[in-house]
Amino acid sequence: MKHVLVTGGAGYIGSHACKALQAAGYTPVAFDNLSTGWEEAVQFGPLARGDLMDRASIDAAFAQYQPIAVMHFAALSLVGESMSDPGKYWRENVTGAANLLDAAVAAGCLDFVFSSTCATYGDQDGVVLDEATPQMPINAYGGSKKAIEAMLADYGAAAGLRSVIFRYFNVAGADPEGKIGEQHRPETHLIPLMLDAIEGKRPALTIFGSDYPTEDGTCIRDYVHVADLVDAHIAGLRWLEEGRGSDVFCLGTGRGFSVREVVEASRTVTNRDVPVVEGTRRAGDAAALVCGSRKAVDVLGWRPERSTLPVMIADAWRWQQSAGYEH
Ligand code: UDP
Repeated sequence: MKHVLVTGGAGYIGSHACKALQAAGYTPVAFDNLSTGWEEAVQFGPLARGDLMDRASIDAAFAQYQPIAVMHFAALSLVGESMSDPGKYWRENVTGAANLLDAAVAAGCLDFVFSSTCATYGDQDGVVLDEATPQMPINAYGGSKKAIEAMLADYGAAAGLRSVIFRYFNVAGADPEGKIGEQHRPETHLIPLMLDAIEGKRPALTIFGSDYPTEDGTCIRDYVHVADLVDAHIAGLRWLEEGRGSDVFCLGTGRGFSVREVVEASRTVTNRDVPVVEGTRRAGDAAALVCGSRKAVDVLGWRPERSTLPVMIADAWRWQQSAGYEH
């Protein structure tokens, strides 16, 4: 049985990765402290309850399950919070990753798939973002992820660690079978907040800034379906298992949508009114983040077929209406 240690396996992307791993014949071990994850999301393999700030708990998981690889999702990931409390991001994300890497090397588990982000690029007006674009983060979240990418190179040189880094654009949608989905405490992401507003669970969606240098004044993001995203991780794992070297791939569709376009698409998909108010900019937000690379498609054979706005919103809407984990 091939175990894969999935840090953050009870979270949004991590739980979808566990489902994809199980479907691909692996046994995912969800390593999670359940601070933001959901025990109900751990459906595809065992839960190893532990904390990346507690090295002994990581060592115990490696000793118990002898994983062949690690997929590292666990992290603090809120741009706004990282601006107001940067120390928390630097401490937990970077120290947590160092603890995990030390434990992996000590256990001889040298294949590592890492969840990085387009937030490592910062705000590069008009630049097509790809794997070669210089990383100039403008928030502590992106800064901490960039630092971990550098750590992976160092552990590669020092200990032979092999890593596949994925820089995600905006992840959206839910499991097409409706078993798991996106649910954060507190929720800060655009699509779930908008669906909440449509259902009347919140008074309205606030658009964070309508004075950006974009066509309609709102931020542009490149949205990727979570099911497509985790498929790329399986391809990345196989890449490492085949003995290929460390590499980095951007995961986006190459097509950006403004906040207003996402609002319009949600109106169409749900056939409901979307209450919206216009607010000020959120600190740390770049005007536009769009992926300019087809490397994952060309090299890994990735096919992001569910990554259209109507499909992502429809899957998220079905999950939202099922009341998620809080039945
Ligand atoms: N956004 C917004 N209102 C909200 C939440 C998000 O206008 O209540 C915008 C945000 O400024 C960004 C986009 O929606 O341009 C996506 O934000 P999200 O927090 O979902 O993801 P992020 O880009 O931070 O990873």
